[in-house]
Amino acid sequence: MKVEMHMHTSEVSPCAMVRAAAGVREYKKAFYDGIVITDHFNDYVLSGFIGSDREKVAKYLTGYKIAKDQGEEIGITVFFGIEACLLGSRNEFLLYGLEPEFLYEYPKLYTLSMKELLQEVRGAGGIVVQAHPYRGYCTQEDHQYLDGVEVYNGNPRHDSRNHLAMDFANQYPHLIKTSGSDYHQLGDLAFGGMIFPQKLYTEKELRDALLTREYGLICK
Ligand SMILES: [Zn+2]
Ligand SMILES: [Zn+2]
Repeated sequence: MKVEMHMHTSEVSPCAMVRAAAGVREYKKAFYDGIVITDHFNDYVLSGFIGSDREKVAKYLTGYKIAKDQGEEIGITVFFGIEACLLGSRNEFLLYGLEPEFLYEYPKLYTLSMKELLQEVRGAGGIVVQAHPYRGYCTQEDHQYLDGVEVYNGNPRHDSRNHLAMDFANQYPHLIKTSGSDYHQLGDLAFGGMIFPQKLYTEKELRDALLTREYGLICK
């Protein structure tokens, strides 16, 4: 099963230019079987939404929900994910294996410390993967607070220095490796992703498949 692990929707991520349903259709045409929607969840994005914490989370979930509906219609599995950024740092973390309802418990997820993030995400059955740790504005997080590293980020507008991310992951045996396109606009299609030997249907199955490490990385 070929899965895009890192995709944004313009309904939610201010930097994204493609609407959720259109992006899902593009991935179907590119012969992917699954997509993880990983919109930005941070102080900046959430403060741009109006209403109560609950309403802001509901707004955040719209990109994923529209993508999921479109996926069901055309036959591509859409998983929930998050790209979180914590206050005081520009590092970003891909969270996999969580249910969307997790955010109603943590509408201010971005105020947690790194240690708390790992604890709460793991407690809810998820994992924490540092996104593009060698991009210019990023620093490598302490490996003890990570479950994995995005060793390949295919975004063509950034130099993510992926070879360094791979070296980082190789230094610590507990870290899993992921690859994703970091899709924001039409030209970002299908530069990365992962190939799993089995068909996956739920976020928990995706997490388990990641933890087995039995998969291939797409690194274009
Ligand atoms: Zn972005
Ligand atoms: Zn991203």
